[in-house]
Amino acid sequence: MKIETQAVHAGRKIEPQFRSVATPIYLSTIYERGEDGGTPGGYSYSRSGNPNRQALEECLAALEGGTAAAAFSSGSAATMAVLQSLRPGDHVIAPTDVYYGTTIFLRDIFPTWGLEASLVDMTDVAQIRGAVRTNTKLIWIETPSNPLLRITDIEAAVDIAHEAGAVALCDNTLASPVLQNPLAIGADLALHSTTKYLGGHSDLTGGAIVACEAEHPLFAGVRKMQQNGGAVPSAFDCWLLLRSISTLPHRVRAQAENAQRVAEFLEKQPAVECVHYPGLKSHPGYALAKKQMRQFGGLFSVQIKGGAKEALAFAARLKLITRATSLGGVDSNVDHRKTIEPPESKTPENLLRFSMGLEHVDDLLADVEGALRT
Ligand SMILES: *Cc1c(COP(=O)(O)O)cnc(C)c1O
Repeated sequence: MKIETQAVHAGRKIEPQFRSVATPIYLSTIYERGEDGGTPGGYSYSRSGNPNRQALEECLAALEGGTAAAAFSSGSAATMAVLQSLRPGDHVIAPTDVYYGTTIFLRDIFPTWGLEASLVDMTDVAQIRGAVRTNTKLIWIETPSNPLLRITDIEAAVDIAHEAGAVALCDNTLASPVLQNPLAIGADLALHSTTKYLGGHSDLTGGAIVACEAEHPLFAGVRKMQQNGGAVPSAFDCWLLLRSISTLPHRVRAQAENAQRVAEFLEKQPAVECVHYPGLKSHPGYALAKKQMRQFGGLFSVQIKGGAKEALAFAARLKLITRATSLGGVDSNVDHRKTIEPPESKTPENLLRFSMGLEHVDDLLADVEGALRT
């Protein structure tokens, strides 16, 4: 079935007692055991599993074209579960501009547990190949990247991983399963911060790992971490996320259309130094993005002529677009990344990242035009 249909139906079923069509929220942490000690309803204790999480995971697996998914309380908890499933002495390759939280894991936290990591420019396939060692167990792909929206060739990175006997994981948060399907290109695992497009309303935190096959050894480790570590979403969070997913394909396409229009407008403005958006022909990843994505997503970054002061002043003059971090919500926002990232971050000082929401594009254009004019 097509993604619009999966978004509405996957994981949902009529509740048997009262025949309710909307999925109920099962708050119970415990489930009655059978006389023989078995679990006749399929559940025993909600950390290990519960009906709302099960429904969500079935839907996430369907959207990504995988066979199993594990839901977490945040994207970072999902990342953590993957890294904890590796062994001391294993080596990971990741992009230099990987999500900042993932850098902290690879650079500061996991080395003390014996995990080795190389951060390379993954838009250059030769650099990925050059970083492979005999102990490389995981190639971590993230495309488009944040905040420069750089594009990595998923197929090439997956091939290098598999030749090396390593797992290929793609953080698919920015594209969402609507615009890009890493598992269909050969990746073993896809990661989502469901806080972003899947949640889409700036009101929940969550994460997920989707696996090409439930028996995949690294995914088995992830499942074990989830059920035993307990960094799991509440039943309510699972319910809210599943409800949000119903409209995902329609939201993401409209957000990408808005981003395309506003990015094209900004690129022509004299006060703008450059716009980073893979949907612009000027972007170095344009051709590759066209090949592996259906549209170019709802996120772009702009470098304003001048420095941090000019960028912050421009953001302050916006009236409709809110100054806030994060991305993927129905409401548009703008983020001065340099303020948020640590001092050593290489993000340009004059860069603003825009996440386009579902407002009418004319109102968004009027907002940026007004902020430029002053
Ligand atoms: C936000 C984000 C994460 C981390 O997810 P949280 O839900 O904030 O923990 C990981 N990867 C990418 C690409 C993200 O945007």
